[in-house]
Amino acid sequence: MEFEFVEKKELKEKPKENLGFGKYFTDYMFVMDYTEDKGWHNKKIIPYGDITVNPSTMVLHYAQETFEGLKAYKGKDGKIYLFRPYMNAKRFKNSNERMCMPEVSEELFVDSIKELVKVEKDWIPEGEGESLYIRPFMFADEESLGVHVAKSYKFLVILSPVGAYYPEGVNPIKIYVEDEYVRASVGGTGFVKCGGNYAASLIGQKKAEKLGYTQVLWLDGIHRKYVEEVGSMNAMFLIDDTVVTAPIEGTVLPGVTRDSIMTLLKDFGYKVEEKHMHIDELMKAGREGRLKEAFGTGTAAVISPIGELYYKGEEVIVNDFKTGELTQKLYDTLTGIQWATKDDKYKWREEVR
Ligand SMILES: *Cc1c(COP(=O)(O)O)cnc(C)c1O
Repeated sequence: MEFEFVEKKELKEKPKENLGFGKYFTDYMFVMDYTEDKGWHNKKIIPYGDITVNPSTMVLHYAQETFEGLKAYKGKDGKIYLFRPYMNAKRFKNSNERMCMPEVSEELFVDSIKELVKVEKDWIPEGEGESLYIRPFMFADEESLGVHVAKSYKFLVILSPVGAYYPEGVNPIKIYVEDEYVRASVGGTGFVKCGGNYAASLIGQKKAEKLGYTQVLWLDGIHRKYVEEVGSMNAMFLIDDTVVTAPIEGTVLPGVTRDSIMTLLKDFGYKVEEKHMHIDELMKAGREGRLKEAFGTGTAAVISPIGELYYKGEEVIVNDFKTGELTQKLYDTLTGIQWATKDDKYKWREEVR
């Protein structure tokens, strides 16, 4: 890929500890522009900093915006890896198609990330559980208030060194099952990684936090009965000896972690069922002690054990509010592949060099 490089004179001091999530940003970012006549052009890696937009810039009014999230890891072998970046590239393509935004080819998407990560390789933190979070995103930057598909866009990639999501180790979270608000409906944008979905779901998150819960478990948008996903994670439930998760049929985000965990589960010999599970069935399994483990899956936290579910006045405790054996094994296996302490038998690691 050809791009212009604008060098920065003075580099920032890199944070040493308490990285948290998305608090620090590296020295450079990738930017490119799209217009109908030129396609993607102006590919540049420039110093990280403010971008100016006109008050009439369309994204500020009509929210044509999509994003992705993945990580770069410094492997125990000293090499730099991405984890299944072509899956993010494909998902980004699907998101953009739904939002009437231009396509970024899979190759261009992955190359822009690789080039930026190469420039910023010294920013990949090497402490336990630390990595470099990668946030590619695109938005409509045409200046106009007329409601239409925008004619021009910007694509950027920014990087943020992040710590272990749970510095004290993997810990169970409390989940509020939301039966008032909905996140997605069939025909809508549930499968799209876009800012708009988050804007509409914050009210559920706010409510859950006020009531003492960490995250929301969303139910389907029509019946408000069938289990879908958790906040920014897909949700999985070990009931008896089967792992149940919602199917990818347009309302649930097709997580890369979800797909990877399902592969591991099948390899471990578990039955995995993608189905519309009624919330009553889940609560009943919990009450009867057949809900053995529950967890959320996503790039940021990898796996988040669920220790409690609250629905319509009833609470169900999962596995004595402790991280389950299977949950821990999945976490260890997946992070082992990501940080190259385990064999990459599925060819999920993509070296950056
Ligand atoms: C990003 C995201 C996920 C998890 O996807 P991963 O590719 O595993 O990180 C799940 N749900 C929502 C709503 C998301 O935005």
